[in-house]
Amino acid sequence: MSNVFVLDTNKQPLNTVHPGEARILLSRGKAAVYRRFPFTIILKVAIDDPVVAQLRIKIDPGSKTTGLAILNDATGEVVYAAELSHRGHKIKESLDDRRGVRRSRRNRHTRYRKPRWRNRRNKKTGWLPPSLQSRITNVITWVERFMRVCHITAISMELVKFDMQAMENAEISGVQYQQGTLMGYEVREYLLHKWKHTCAYCSKEHIPLQVEHIVPRAKDRDDRVSNLCLACEKCNQRKGTKDIKDFLKKKPDLLKKILAQAKAPLKDAAAVNATRLELFNRLQDLGLPIECGSGGLTKYNRTMRNLPKTHWLDAASVGTSTPEVLQITGMQPLLITASGHGRRRMRPVDKFGFPCGKPKQPGRKKGFKTGDIVKAVVTKGKHVGTYVGRVAARATGSFDITTKQGTTQGIGYQYCRALHRSNGYSYQKGEAVSASSQESVQAEISSCATAPKKGRPVSSPELKQGVSTGRKLMKHD
Ligand SMILES: [Zn+2]
Repeated sequence: MSNVFVLDTNKQPLNTVHPGEARILLSRGKAAVYRRFPFTIILKVAIDDPVVAQLRIKIDPGSKTTGLAILNDATGEVVYAAELSHRGHKIKESLDDRRGVRRSRRNRHTRYRKPRWRNRRNKKTGWLPPSLQSRITNVITWVERFMRVCHITAISMELVKFDMQAMENAEISGVQYQQGTLMGYEVREYLLHKWKHTCAYCSKEHIPLQVEHIVPRAKDRDDRVSNLCLACEKCNQRKGTKDIKDFLKKKPDLLKKILAQAKAPLKDAAAVNATRLELFNRLQDLGLPIECGSGGLTKYNRTMRNLPKTHWLDAASVGTSTPEVLQITGMQPLLITASGHGRRRMRPVDKFGFPCGKPKQPGRKKGFKTGDIVKAVVTKGKHVGTYVGRVAARATGSFDITTKQGTTQGIGYQYCRALHRSNGYSYQKGEAVSASSQESVQAEISSCATAPKKGRPVSSPELKQGVSTGRKLMKHD
């Protein structure tokens, strides 16, 4: 379970506590629930000069989901974990929808309006499309929320997919001395990106890929990244120690393409994406030290600690500050979904752009808003019972409440009590990590053809057979 945040009566953040301890505090009347999401309790006394552990918030920004983890670096304990789902695609959809309606309206015979030109946005001043902007503001919102309830003193974020600086050095110094190390992961991520996750020879996607030497290694021991590409096992074995020119004798076009792509270095712009950079800039405004990590490093940290691939565990593995051992057993992440704050449009329109339905109604109905988490204790009628869940508020006062068991319609507003006011996000509990799931990951890693092997002697004979020149990255010979 994630820990519970604790505030003193002056809303000063204290150390987080185990949920059991929080339960005792609550049942003895020493604290009250301050907030449901993230679960925070407030003590009834003030604490002078509390000794508070320093925490670090770690962020793995993704296009659909961002992983968040709050860690105690000193003990390696993951104090809190969350996964934040963005609504970028929904924003894009509704903007496209609006654009379509406006366009069709312009093409109809409507009153003439002078063109307006002074209302264009300035794309030079760090402007991002609304769908991407929302991702950044989502993350900032949550970092700020966590900063209000616990003592966060540092931030880690994954800024780049792979470390270009290290990659450039690898181009010069070769990769052989770095086999099986962090650099292996960095190179692998780089190659996957450069070759777009496809086999260079047969263009197959979504299959395990192996690192392949374009000019066979047996020939002139060229381990530079510009001599590496990705191939599926079949192609890799078929090519064997052959020279690429012989191997692709019948496909001169492909040969030319591969040689050209291998020589072309990946541009920096391809490695740092604009959204992450903007997020980094915005996080800097919070005034905390920020540590940046690369995707290769994250993957290396996660694999070395036998952690399953989830967004929050990726976040916990970001950066060089990651503790040797992460305490995560039983951790259950909070799944946060950005749901928005309702619509701005005053009247819904049909697909032709004509108004339909009722105009926009006031958001609150009988004091409740759709999206609030309520507790309803129904004492009369056919729905007698207790319901805790998300409410869909209706103007009639007859509400729908969605709980884990499903939606119940027609619950009177007079039975409802708000537990958590809607704030643009909806919440769910994620799956807990058990000790067995960590072991199964280990098994998965050793069975996967492309995943680097951990804790195995590097000159393992098992690895040597099968593939001749197309060595796996992690292999020494
Ligand atoms: Zn292939």
